[in-house]
Amino acid sequence: MNFSWTAHRFAGGALALDVANSVVLRHDEARRVDRFGVEGQLLSFPKAAAEFSAERAIFGDVVLTAPKDKQAFIALREATDRYFRSRVLCGHEEALLADLLEAIARVLRGGSAANGVDRATAHSALRLIATPDNERMKICGNCGWLFLDRSKNRSRVWCDMTVCGNRAKASRHYRRRKEEDVP
Ligand SMILES: [Zn+2]
Repeated sequence: MNFSWTAHRFAGGALALDVANSVVLRHDEARRVDRFGVEGQLLSFPKAAAEFSAERAIFGDVVLTAPKDKQAFIALREATDRYFRSRVLCGHEEALLADLLEAIARVLRGGSAANGVDRATAHSALRLIATPDNERMKICGNCGWLFLDRSKNRSRVWCDMTVCGNRAKASRHYRRRKEEDVP
């Protein structure tokens, strides 16, 4: 499968969520794709994050670099998804928060570069933990991505109306799902 990092891939509204969302269709075992498992994707992610992430102003003009320890970065991604997904679905769980804090600590202790995407992701996750706005964090009804709903009346259902909103409409209309539905 051929991918490029587009603005849509950063619909999460926070870098930590965009990183969690690098697993496409996480909830669908048969169609799930780990983009960081695809050749070259992890290396091209930091540059795209600096360009498209909703938190890009925080990174400033600094060029984000690849994670120092890929395993620690992926562990952070998984702990981020588990904690926040569970928080949206069933509420805060102390054990999952502890796992996430450990994954964050591992990245911060591991000597990642000051401008490393791993460090930036860890700090993004800390911001999400420190400012819990549970009504704003949602799970897209089409693709299963985590996203922050920053709309005034908090009425968003899709991570990205132009992609998932339209696909959901189309699939309701045709009552079929095809391979190109992959967000
Ligand atoms: Zn979506």
